[in-house]
Amino acid sequence: MLSIEQQGFEKKEINTEDKGEHGGISVAAELQLAVRRVSSVNPATGAVLHEFECASEADVRAAVARAHAAQVEWSEVGLQRRITILREFQRLLLEKKSEIAAAITREAGKPLVEALVTEVLVVLDTARFLIDNAHRLLRDEPVPHGNLATRLKRGWLLRQPYGVIGIISPWNYPFSIPATETLAALVAGNAVVLKPSEFTSLTTLELASLLYAAGVPKDVFQVVVGDGSAGAALLESGIDKLVFTGSVATGKRIAKAAAERLLPIVIELGGKDPMLVLDDADVDVASSAAVWGAFVNAGQACLSVERCYVHRSLQEAFLAACVEKTEKLRVGRGEDHNTDVGPLIHERQLRLVEAQVEDARNKGARVWTGGTRLPQLGPNFYSPTILADVTHEMRIMREETFGPVLPVMAFDDDEEAVRLANDSEYGLAASVWTRDWDRGKRLARQIHAGTVMVNDVISCFGISEAPHGGVKASGVGRTHGRFGLEEMVRLKYLDSDLAPGMKKLWWYGYGAPFARQMEGFLDLQFARGLRRKLSGALRAAGVVVGRKL
Ligand code: NAD
Repeated sequence: MLSIEQQGFEKKEINTEDKGEHGGISVAAELQLAVRRVSSVNPATGAVLHEFECASEADVRAAVARAHAAQVEWSEVGLQRRITILREFQRLLLEKKSEIAAAITREAGKPLVEALVTEVLVVLDTARFLIDNAHRLLRDEPVPHGNLATRLKRGWLLRQPYGVIGIISPWNYPFSIPATETLAALVAGNAVVLKPSEFTSLTTLELASLLYAAGVPKDVFQVVVGDGSAGAALLESGIDKLVFTGSVATGKRIAKAAAERLLPIVIELGGKDPMLVLDDADVDVASSAAVWGAFVNAGQACLSVERCYVHRSLQEAFLAACVEKTEKLRVGRGEDHNTDVGPLIHERQLRLVEAQVEDARNKGARVWTGGTRLPQLGPNFYSPTILADVTHEMRIMREETFGPVLPVMAFDDDEEAVRLANDSEYGLAASVWTRDWDRGKRLARQIHAGTVMVNDVISCFGISEAPHGGVKASGVGRTHGRFGLEEMVRLKYLDSDLAPGMKKLWWYGYGAPFARQMEGFLDLQFARGLRRKLSGALRAAGVVVGRKL
C-alpha cells in the first residue's frame, strides 16, 4: 500500500514535544499556518503528528482536471469491474482493520472500539451493500406509459455518473463519512476529489491508500489536503456535484456559492437530536441509551443525543440511573482499551462546550455530574456531564453542543414531548423510548427529522440500507443506501418511439375539427362512465393522420 509520501504528500519533521495552547500547535506552527499549512494533532496529547501544505486553488483545479480525464475510462470499465475493485477494498480493509482503527484513534481521539464499530464496520458494511445492490439499483429501468397518446413509445430511466464528485468532510467521523460517500460515488462511475477536514488528513490518506491498493486509479480518487479555503476552491474547480458534511454555518456558505453556479449539492449538517422517554419506557435500558448516545465519541456525533425529554413520572429514577452510569465511565486516551470517553477534538470545541454549560448554569440548570475540564488527562478532556432543570431559553437546548453533555427536561404528556422535540431549528434524527411499538411509531410520524428510531439511538448511521440526512437546518439530500447512491447519478430519461414512420397526432393541423377530436380523446381517457368514454372514442376516431404537417 502507498505511504503518505508515496501519495505525494511531503513529510515534515515534527518535534512532538513542541506544543502550545491551541490544540497543541506551537507558535512556530501557528506562523506556518499563516503560510497555509495544516497540522494533524493527537487531541489526547496535543502532539503534532504531521504537517501538510494546503493545496492551492491551482492544485485543486489541476486535481479536478485530472479527475475529469480519468473518469471517462473509469465509467467505461463497467460496473462489474468496479464492484470487483470494491470487493478487494473490502478485503483489504478487513485485513487492516486494527491499523486503520488505530490511525483514527490517534488523530480523532475516540476509543479504539468506537473506531472499529462506528467507522471501520460502517465502511465494510457499506461496501457489502454496494456489492450486493449496485447492479439492481443502477441498471436501466423501464418506464411504462399510462397515457394512451404515448403507448407507441418505450421509456427508460438511465442512471449515469455525474463526472467528478467533490466531497468535503468533517473530522468527527474522519473515515466512515468520506469513505461511505466515496464508495457510492466510485461504484456509480464517478471520479472523486476529496477535501478532508484539516484536523484529520492522515486518516483520509489511509482511505486513499486502501483504494489505490484495491485498484482504483490514482486520478480517479484524489485527496486535496487543506483548510476551508481548499474546500472553497473545490467548489469553483469544475466539479459536477458536491457532497458536503459539516456545520450549518459552513453549509450555508457552501449552498450560496453553489447556487451561483447551479452546482448540485448534498449538504449533511448539524443536529440537536431529541430523545423522548415515554412513561412506559424501561428506565434501565433508556438511561443506558441516553448515556451512550450523549457520550459516544465524546458527544461529537451529528446524531448524538443532544436533548433528553423524560416523562415527569420517570424523571427522578431516570436521572439517578444516568448519573450512576455516567460516573462509572472511564475518560482517557482512546488507545487505552479501558477508555469509554476520549478527548474533544481541540480546545476551541472544549471552550464552546464550557460556554454552553456555563450559560445553562447561569440560567438555573443543575449539574448532576461533571461540568468540568479534566486537565490532568490532557489538553482537551471534559467530564461527561448531566444537567437537569434545563429550559429552551438556554443555549444548551437550542445550539448544537458537540460535546459530552446530556441535558434532561421533564414533560407531562406525549403532545408536549412532540412539541418540545420539534421546537428546534434542526431536524437530523430523534428517538422515542416506549414499550408500546404502535405508540412509538405514532409519535415518530409527528417528529420533524430525517430519521426517528424507536428504542434505539445513532445506529441508523450503521444501517447501510437506511438513508441518512436531515430536514430543516440539518441539511438537504441523502447519503447511504439506495437514496445515497441515487445522489451520485444523473437521471436521464430515454424515450424511443416505435412508429418512426408516423407523424404524431398532436402536431400541426389545428382547427375546430381537430379540437373536437381531441376533446373526444380526453373523454375517452378520463371521463367517468362507459357511455361517455365510448362517445369520446367515436369523436376521437376521426383523426386523419395524413393531415398532419
Ligand atoms: P466545519 O463546517 O467546520 O468543516 C467541515 C469541512 O468544511 C472541513 O473539511 C472544512 O475544512 C471545510 N470548510 C470550512 N470552511 C469552508 C468553506 N468556506 N468552503 C468549503 N469548505 C469549507 O465542520 P466540522 O467542525 O469539521 O464538523 C462538525 C460539524 O459537522 C458538526 O456541526 C456536525 O454536526 C456536522 N456533521 C454532520 C453530519 C451529518 O451527517 N449530518 C455528520 C458529521 C458531522
